[in-house]
Amino acid sequence: MATIDFEFRKQILENSIGDTLAYCYQCATCSGACPVAQVTQGRYNPRRLILDALLGLKEKIFGEKNAFVIWGCTVCDTCDEVCPQKVELTEIFTILKNMSVERGEAPEHYTGQARMILEAAKAIPMQPAIERRRDQLGLPKIMAPDVKEIQELLSATRLAEKIKKEE
Ligand code: SF4
Ligand code: SF4
Repeated sequence: MATIDFEFRKQILENSIGDTLAYCYQCATCSGACPVAQVTQGRYNPRRLILDALLGLKEKIFGEKNAFVIWGCTVCDTCDEVCPQKVELTEIFTILKNMSVERGEAPEHYTGQARMILEAAKAIPMQPAIERRRDQLGLPKIMAPDVKEIQELLSATRLAEKIKKEE
């Protein structure tokens, strides 16, 4: 049987946005509207994630085998729009994702992209083929990002430290 982690529950409920969690009455409108729940036949389930967070069932949310429970969400915001109780689902899921990153459990496709932004200040590096195509279409050159400035901003978020934990 899963153990209730009161401290974890408190951490979410004490957050200014996380406290909307308490208003969930499990109507499942969010899961019915969620595109990821639909394409995964309910393997990803926002209603269940909200319930597990509300009950403080941390072990059902975190851990490598549970990565899809949190990271399956594409942050499309549909659930927020349909929730009759105005539960801030995507913000709550962001709190959970941040906790997952702190635990060193974020999937490699996320940390890999974060590493790219940290190194090059861009999620997707510019490629010669794209530049050629832009020239052909008469589009202006894309300005190079200020890598140093981005790195300074990211250092305030301790991103490098968090990514390092994953290696
Ligand atoms: S739609 Fe809102 S109230 Fe209904 S289960 Fe989802 S989070 Fe809870
Ligand atoms: S934000 Fe996430 S949980 Fe909400 S509907 Fe979109 S994919 Fe589903």
